[in-house]
Amino acid sequence: MGRPALVVALTGGIGSGKSTVSRHFEKLGVPVIDADLIAREQVEPGAPALDEILERFGADVITPKGGLDRDRMRSIVFENSTKRLQLQQILHPRIRSEMQLRLVQLDTPYAVLVIPLLLESGQNSLADRILVVDIPEVHQIERVQQRDGLKKTQIEQIIAAQVDRQSRLAAADDVIRNDGGLHTLEKAVEQLHRHYLDLAEQRPISG
Ligand code: ADP
Repeated sequence: MGRPALVVALTGGIGSGKSTVSRHFEKLGVPVIDADLIAREQVEPGAPALDEILERFGADVITPKGGLDRDRMRSIVFENSTKRLQLQQILHPRIRSEMQLRLVQLDTPYAVLVIPLLLESGQNSLADRILVVDIPEVHQIERVQQRDGLKKTQIEQIIAAQVDRQSRLAAADDVIRNDGGLHTLEKAVEQLHRHYLDLAEQRPISG
């Protein structure tokens, strides 16, 4: 047991293919820790982060069942960057320590952290490498429209609020271009898997 020798942070814009890529890593036996799933757990009824959110944002953002009203919260932080920062200050340290806790329980050569807002949040200190899933914006819009049924303008707004494609690519150690079919995507993941196993073998285990 101990932290894997290599930790890869997987990121990309909305609809770029992060979930699809991470599912394929899992299929290959690689543990995947997803920051979004942890964030959801942190705001379940009774979770300590939810108390802090209630204190700061008031009862308006809590549902009758006692959980976080995610739609309401999303519209608040989307319109107000100070509030967005306040929410991040509550959630990010908790997400980070939970990811760290899960990492040290693993005994695989490497692990993947899915961190959608990696570059926006500066949460890359746990990772040794950054893997970016990259797609042209036209595909991104098409795929999110199909998946979520959102309007084109809504998707464009979300994309505009995320870090731009060039900055993401500039930060990447590895890039998967997801502009082909699913089979091509899986092959790209398999190629990286072999690469990461090689890299992990060459690295000393850090603490
Ligand atoms: P993310 O997790 O980055 O938001 P997803 O993995 O959910 O993105 O992918 C967005 C949508 O596009 C999903 O419905 C997924 O099935 C689809 N998709 C992903 N990659 C491809 C591809 N190469 N070809 C066709 N559809 C794809």
